[in-house]
Amino acid sequence: MRGGPPHSLYAIIIESMEPADSIRRLGFARWYERRLIEGHAWFISGFICIVAIAATMEELSFRGSVARLLAYVIVIAAAAAIGIYGLVRYQQILSEAEQLGEHATCRACGAYARFRLISSSQVRCRKCDNEWCLIQPGKPE
Ligand SMILES: [Zn+2]
Repeated sequence: MRGGPPHSLYAIIIESMEPADSIRRLGFARWYERRLIEGHAWFISGFICIVAIAATMEELSFRGSVARLLAYVIVIAAAAAIGIYGLVRYQQILSEAEQLGEHATCRACGAYARFRLISSSQVRCRKCDNEWCLIQPGKPE
């Protein structure tokens, strides 16, 4: 999982190379598949957090001890934070995958995901050597 503070310099370098590095390593089709799996894992995490919040809310009563009330409030706050983060990541990952997926087809010969990365943004078709820009440079993830 990426994005957890504190950010080391190494992590920043890795992130600035993404997603080109992963695509180069895995190939586009497998990268795309993994992004979908990761995105849905975040979605499920977010969903579980919402269920946990609902369940904790049900238990929440103001008649118990202060310590118990505080514990419930902490659980709800933590679940809300994780849940919101999870759903934001889900949205980010899927929109990125979808955006790159739209550019994964060669316009010259129509081959899907049959390209090789020649830089952090440019790709070359394996079939017809057509080159195009897959990843918009400077686009925040
Ligand atoms: Zn082509």
